Amino acid sequence: MPEIFFDTHAHLDYPDFATELIPVVERASGAGISRIITIGTDLESSRRSIQIAEQFPNVFAVVGWHPSYAMNAPADLRPALRELASHPKVVALGETGLDYHRLPSASLKSKVQSLKSSSSAGDHTMEDEQYKAKQAELFRQHLEVAKETGLNCVIHQRDSMADTISVLQPFASTVRGVFHCFANDAVTMRRILGLNSLVSFTGIVTFKNGQNIRETLRETPLDQFMLETDCPFLAPVPYRGKRCEPAYVKEISEVAAQVKGCSLSELSEATCQTAKRFFAKLN
Ligand SMILES: [Zn+2]
Ligand SMILES: [Zn+2]
Repeated sequence: MPEIFFDTHAHLDYPDFATELIPVVERASGAGISRIITIGTDLESSRRSIQIAEQFPNVFAVVGWHPSYAMNAPADLRPALRELASHPKVVALGETGLDYHRLPSASLKSKVQSLKSSSSAGDHTMEDEQYKAKQAELFRQHLEVAKETGLNCVIHQRDSMADTISVLQPFASTVRGVFHCFANDAVTMRRILGLNSLVSFTGIVTFKNGQNIRETLRETPLDQFMLETDCPFLAPVPYRGKRCEPAYVKEISEVAAQVKGCSLSELSEATCQTAKRFFAKLN
């Protein structure tokens, strides 16, 4: 019998899985991945995630709106979040947070260069600021609903750690976050744990060039992190570059146990307990 692990962050509603959801979930069970949490990225995706959770007893849903799509979000997402969050299989809100990886100015700059347009840099800066403000507003709305409902938040950040932490900070006494797909250093990890939040690690820990992340994982206390695939992205070695799926938490757990210097059963026990504490409605 393989050790039991959870995939705490999957995107089963993505088209990548549309035609073979049943075998994907079965392969996960066969590999010992006994729970899958599928994460919404906008309202439609959140509703699909709930439908999938209704279809499979071992799949749970997280509902929210990804920061990269913030500009398409309604001005007030809270009523919709409240409604979706009341579903018995919705175990957290998200993914939410801040993502500054592709700011409007970056895509404009390339367009401007090719068109030799005369738009000023000032316009781009303003657009970037509006985009960031909208993301922060949306993130706050998730945190408010999390606080009201007693659920926690699945947090996505990219190139925006300082701002993400400052939006979370005022909520930190009542809402916990998990900084998913964690790829930062140990100092940042400790700051996050200091806010009573958690981190979670993907297949990046198996990558040849994932040395820094393995270093952070080594420093992270055994009871303060979770494992995830973020599938269909970030397939671990030996599947790197292929479509990822929840069964591959097995490969991630094997590397994580080596890095932590513990047995698979110790890692299983710790990460599953952490997930059950964090996702209160997970059973
Ligand atoms: Zn994410
Ligand atoms: Zn994700």
